[in-house]
Amino acid sequence: MKILVANLGSTSLKYRLFDFSDGRGQLLARGGYERVSDYPAAIDSCLGELLKGGHIASESELAAVGFKAVMARGLNGCVRLDESAVEAMEAFNAIAPAHNPPYISGIRLFARRMPGTPLVGLFETAFYQWAPEAAMRYAVPESWNEAGVRRWGFHGASHKFIAERSAELLGRPDVAERARQLYVDGGISPVTGPDCRVISCHLGGSSSITGILNGVAVGNSLGMSPQSGLPHNNRVGDLDAFAVPFVMRSLGLSLDEVEGQMCRESGLKGLSGVSNDMRDIQAEAAVGNAKARLALEVFVHQARHWIGAYLAQLNGADALVFTAGIGENRGEMRASICASLDQLGIVLDPARNVRPETAECVISAEDSRVKVMVIPTNEELVVAREVHRFLNK
Ligand code: ADP
Repeated sequence: MKILVANLGSTSLKYRLFDFSDGRGQLLARGGYERVSDYPAAIDSCLGELLKGGHIASESELAAVGFKAVMARGLNGCVRLDESAVEAMEAFNAIAPAHNPPYISGIRLFARRMPGTPLVGLFETAFYQWAPEAAMRYAVPESWNEAGVRRWGFHGASHKFIAERSAELLGRPDVAERARQLYVDGGISPVTGPDCRVISCHLGGSSSITGILNGVAVGNSLGMSPQSGLPHNNRVGDLDAFAVPFVMRSLGLSLDEVEGQMCRESGLKGLSGVSNDMRDIQAEAAVGNAKARLALEVFVHQARHWIGAYLAQLNGADALVFTAGIGENRGEMRASICASLDQLGIVLDPARNVRPETAECVISAEDSRVKVMVIPTNEELVVAREVHRFLNK
């Protein structure tokens, strides 16, 4: 069985093709396009490349197209993306304005292009379905909560991959299997043995930190929207809710202007005034740009804030994992985030951190109570596996 996973941005289309004849999912092909202006043509090119490369004999060989969908009103987990599901996604466009609309238009284009092929989405919120209710609630009137004003958590596919892989690396195949089986029966199996406590730091264009207890998330730094938690590339991160009415009144901004500035002119870009890319900001900080340095310091401060939150929630940690663009590639950021945490059992090995031996590795010192790891994430594999399971149900 072959499953295509499509990663949709407003001007990008990336794809990976998986073959499930072994039951676990092997990557057959990957590719993508940036600066897409004609989305239907990009979908045609993607399918054309799979045919030309001999990865599929015909389009009908695709059992499904899977999507790392963001969020929808009243839907969670892995679902068939029919028109009613797409409308449920649309109902939450205002919460995820940078993420939901490109997915919705992309899914509709795939539906038109491949009417006979099931389209299946795994929502980024799925991993948090079992987080304690107390971790997911804001102190708002019940009517707000019912309308969707609660912590949903995102980056679920990435953190679920880390939950599985970190447990394997910690020598806990039982916990890895428990994490893998999430979503299957709509519940979680009991766990035997000591607790397995992992803090997963997905640091990239969007960043989030999750606490994971025995393979199951206990919360996520991303709250109601993918604009919350740590500062992101150009999105604001956590902000006191009263800032919005305050700047509307005192700076005379309209609601649309405030929303636009929080989504496009804030985060690392807003703080540094330089760029939304960590590489540029670090280069500027290195030549003495004070705003760029402050942006890095705010990011580090926020990352430590959330790591601290989950250290308390989990009563310590067995592993602290770094993943995604910044987490996998920026050793200096990992070092800053982990500095002076020896009393909490976190000690990096500077040599291992600067020059990891392999893409996936342990970077903590031998005597560090918490194993600090770098694990490249694989969100598409998680989506493909869930879609495979959905089709076999
Ligand atoms: P997205 O959330 O858009 O998928 P990524 O996970 O690719 O983003 O992360 C983007 C961030 O990671 C940028 O700030 C960039 O500077 C940094 N980054 C990504 N790849 C690398 C790399 N190979 N080397 C250094 N930094 C990187």
